[in-house]
Amino acid sequence: MFELKSPDLLKQVASALVVPERLVLTCHVRPDGDAIGSMLGLGEALESVGKEVICYCQDEPNQTLSFLPGFEKLVHEPPRPFPAGAALVVLDCSEADRIGRHGQELVDQAHRLIVIDHHLGQDMCGNMQDKTGMHCVQYINPDIFATAAICFAIVEQLGWHVSPEIATNFYAAILTDTGCFRHSNTTSLAFRMAARLVEYGADPYMISDMLYERVPYRKLALLSRALRTLSLELDGKVALIHVTPAMLEQTGGTVQDTDDFVRYARCIDGVEVSAFIKEVRAGQVSVSMRSRSWFNVAEVAKGLGGGGHFHAAGFRQPGSAEQWRSRLLDIIAPLLEAHETGDRTDA
Ligand code: AMP
Ligand code: MN
Ligand code: MN
Repeated sequence: MFELKSPDLLKQVASALVVPERLVLTCHVRPDGDAIGSMLGLGEALESVGKEVICYCQDEPNQTLSFLPGFEKLVHEPPRPFPAGAALVVLDCSEADRIGRHGQELVDQAHRLIVIDHHLGQDMCGNMQDKTGMHCVQYINPDIFATAAICFAIVEQLGWHVSPEIATNFYAAILTDTGCFRHSNTTSLAFRMAARLVEYGADPYMISDMLYERVPYRKLALLSRALRTLSLELDGKVALIHVTPAMLEQTGGTVQDTDDFVRYARCIDGVEVSAFIKEVRAGQVSVSMRSRSWFNVAEVAKGLGGGGHFHAAGFRQPGSAEQWRSRLLDIIAPLLEAHETGDRTDA
């Protein structure tokens, strides 16, 4: 058994999963390895104890995740009608809007709502309070590296069998959300869970190979163009990189091919804040922000209608990549300055 904080709350969520015969599992838009691995792993665990499960996510995941057991069961249309008496399980996000355009509809139809997440500053059940008759339980723990880790702890707590298929999903989720055990969220629990999942049949070599060693050529063609936009700003504390619709068109690259581009800005020595600005369609950007130590990117992203974690966050806004390069610098510059002034005052 793994000890997570607020064990009573975790127990409540585990018990809530046992009650309904039917469950609709969902996650955030543009799902990543943690969103999909949590959904498929928990979905498989629920099915193995006889539940009827639907795994719905609005957007097609990156094809690199298609090796995950159960991937073919994902649906991208919300279940209509919503299965009678079913619970809605929201994974790796805790806002109806982050589920996508049908998020609110799903929440409104659900008989009970179960939320499992690790993002900062969310309270989905609190926001639901005025909806009468809704049974809502949530376990949101921002100290945990992956939603799948919470799901794994719950499955263990319930004493359910962890098949190699479930283990593969949870392992892949933990691997991706910890950046292969390199991000600041990596704890000893991440390694302990990973070890246990390998014992349950997850194959670390196969999973890493599938996730990281099968890159399509077009992605590198797109990356080579994106790298030409890489710049250092504000005394080398900030790095920006972007992709435009023209680059996507020239290379045949897809939006999903850009999933990890922010790391080329993030990894530069001396950089505290990095951002990858993806102009998906002309005049619409999706921005990934990262920080190295003290800068809270979740706060900036939240102020712009997005969210995330202290060191990794994102948002979507109208505007071009060029416009957002300067807007971001305008937002970040005073925060850097305030920090440096603070440092001087402290000294
Ligand atoms: P990404 O940069 O897309 O890898 O996202 C980094 C983190 O920020 C993830 O935990 C996301 O869940 C979160 N995030 C990204 N975009 C948004 C958004 N538009 N709204 C809320 N959270 C976001
Ligand atoms: Mn996620
Ligand atoms: Mn996650």
